[in-house]
Amino acid sequence: MTDKYAVIGNPIGHTKSPLIQGMFAQATGRDIDYTAILGPLGEFAKTVDAFRASGGRGMNVTAPFKLDAFAYATDLSERARLAGAVNAMKFEGERVFAENFDGVGLLRDVTHNLGCPLAGKRVLLLGAGGAARGALLPFLEQKPAQLVIANRTVDKAQALASELAGHGPVSGGGYAELAGQQFDVVFNATSASLRAELPPVPATVFAEGCLAYELAYGKGLTPFLRLAQNAGVRRLADGVGMLAEQAAEAFAWWRGVRPDTRAVISHLTVPLV
Ligand code: NDP
Repeated sequence: MTDKYAVIGNPIGHTKSPLIQGMFAQATGRDIDYTAILGPLGEFAKTVDAFRASGGRGMNVTAPFKLDAFAYATDLSERARLAGAVNAMKFEGERVFAENFDGVGLLRDVTHNLGCPLAGKRVLLLGAGGAARGALLPFLEQKPAQLVIANRTVDKAQALASELAGHGPVSGGGYAELAGQQFDVVFNATSASLRAELPPVPATVFAEGCLAYELAYGKGLTPFLRLAQNAGVRRLADGVGMLAEQAAEAFAWWRGVRPDTRAVISHLTVPLV
């Protein structure tokens, strides 16, 4: 019987996961059935229970269910625990193994696909939501010179920095504190771009040769990327590579083989104009 997988979210019409996982399955010669499930709000556990009862082997989890999946899991990975959110699950009997691949997917895109190792770099992370949380530990493991978290709600950034303090040179605060500071890599992990808004980051944060990375994808030149471009930044990227890499991590975890992401990335890339 063909193994069943799915992505669950609400809304779910925009998801690229069935396309991506289908391309991976074809490229690796694995036979999987992968669907998109619109999860009714407040009925996450019931919906996942039904999918498991029908033979489901694993799921990707997207907004707004990453915290529900965290609560539903029986076995959380260290990454998922530190991120406080789950974006992939694997079902084995009564057990629900849970992972968060967003951070490692982002890191792999930056280091492997974009050729920008974080070791020794001054790194700025805008935002302190789920995506930012998932990225912190993978980033610190690369031994950056400095990792600064800036968030609109300042105490969230400070709390995250204190939680991770034992793992490296991390600090957290508000946007006003960024005046006069410069960074080699700047990530926009806020959701502002989804509403075509700009987080209040000073245009002076971009150091010479900087990489400006927008985690949102498929939106072309977002206000954040435009700010960077106008400030003279030539290395701009959006989150399409992160999307492909976190999907590849999940596929490898489920099926034991890591697919090549290049075809998926080139298929989904929207020009940054
Ligand atoms: P969350 O809702 O968990 O966090 C949102 C963050 O954005 C918070 O820090 C919030 O600040 C901040 N924020 C929202 N609006 C503004 C604004 N106008 N100005 C300044 N800060 C703002 O979102 P996620 O972490 O899940 O997602 C963040 C981004 O990452 C989204 O663009 C999402 O599409 C992208 N993403 C991309 C993925 C990929 O595979 N490429 C995977 C996952 C996410 P505050 O705390 O003050 O409210």
